[in-house]
Amino acid sequence: MKTEIIAVGTELLLGQIANTNAQWISRILAKYGASVYFHGVVGDNMERAVKTFEVASERSDVIIVTGGLGPTEDDLTRDAVKPLLKQNLVIHEETLTKIEAVYQNNNRQMTANNRKQALVFEHAKVLHNAEGMAPGQIVKYEQTLFVFLPGVPSEMKSLMENQVLPYLIEAFTLESEIVSEMLRFIGIGESALEHKLEDMIAQQVNPTIAPLASEGEVGLRLTSSGAEAKSKIAALKSDILQRAGEFYYGSDDLTIEEKVRDLLKENKLTLGSAESLTGGKFIERLISLPGASEVCEGGLVAYTPYAKENVIGVPSDLITQHGTISEECAKVMAIQSQKRLNVDAAISFTGVAGPDRSEGQDPGVVYIALQVGRRAPFVKRYHFEGGRDKVRLRAVKKGYELVFH
Ligand code: ATP
Ligand code: MG
Repeated sequence: MKTEIIAVGTELLLGQIANTNAQWISRILAKYGASVYFHGVVGDNMERAVKTFEVASERSDVIIVTGGLGPTEDDLTRDAVKPLLKQNLVIHEETLTKIEAVYQNNNRQMTANNRKQALVFEHAKVLHNAEGMAPGQIVKYEQTLFVFLPGVPSEMKSLMENQVLPYLIEAFTLESEIVSEMLRFIGIGESALEHKLEDMIAQQVNPTIAPLASEGEVGLRLTSSGAEAKSKIAALKSDILQRAGEFYYGSDDLTIEEKVRDLLKENKLTLGSAESLTGGKFIERLISLPGASEVCEGGLVAYTPYAKENVIGVPSDLITQHGTISEECAKVMAIQSQKRLNVDAAISFTGVAGPDRSEGQDPGVVYIALQVGRRAPFVKRYHFEGGRDKVRLRAVKKGYELVFH
């Protein structure tokens, strides 16, 4: 698709405004691999405009024209292209009604000039302009396609994005040549991951690799353009996963909660939780997903020692001996909830969310235990940074990481 963009307007030639329309259109077309071969600017001069359109029609498949569709004498795009297209201009009734209504609403007299904005080529595909008066038009002329758009950038962009681009994509089977994939990792820090991929990151050109750390996870955005974008991304992804595959859980919009749900489902396992400082946040995230009922039995929330004893069944002498913020308590919480909820696996959280110390332990200290089947429970002490909200969130995220691994 050989494309040419022509801007009409003397103010462009005088340097009063820059031709940002052409720049914007070129950029958006480049994303779809459409070749733009010429940018032209012609002033509000009939003879030169006629010549410009003639030349363009001989060398381009698609000619996108912006500007000169307004009501004034100098808006000459339609008249300049008319001899070439050999089509009549007819009144587009819908547009005329719209213009009349605007004048009526403002109590202004409509002049003959204003009707001009409602003129369209008789065989044009008319593009409704929601933001302005003059509609856009797509007109076929022999093998060439003329696209007429208003000069006002916001009107031009809206028509281009919503109507012209979809039309061109269909007519020329254009495909976006920018391909990108976000690889998601959990259980490895950003710098550790970058270290593993140091040489790849240093050599990156196409695809590019952009690391992105967020709450307990790391993402790598791979972006490629050009004809083999997809296969280049696939090749790079496979190289990256050779080195860091154990931490990779999925791509693009997949969340770790969704991944855990899918894994549980695949393995026909059910999960439950016993939660103190997380207050049910862990299980809530799982329950919020469709399909949770197949893999999640429920959660026990027990914040105080009293609740831990009575809701979960933690023996009171264990609490007296070790406190509730301890490996022992976390383990028993996991074991007990596995029993009470009758699930294959259970996870427990107990710790200090802050801001104050509790049982002599610092804010951020959290014990998480995971009990799977009849295996001995896994339990670990963590020290999360940040305020109360952040500590609770990090604990939940870590919980999903543990279940995933
Ligand atoms: P109108 O109905 O408003 O007269 P039009 O289709 O006749 O629209 P022009 O009169 O050529 O378009 O331009 C309207 C305004 O849009 C200009 O004053 C200018 O600010 C802006 N504009 C026009 N052409 C361009 C361009 N190529 N790049 C950036 N801005 C432009
Ligand atoms: Mg104008």
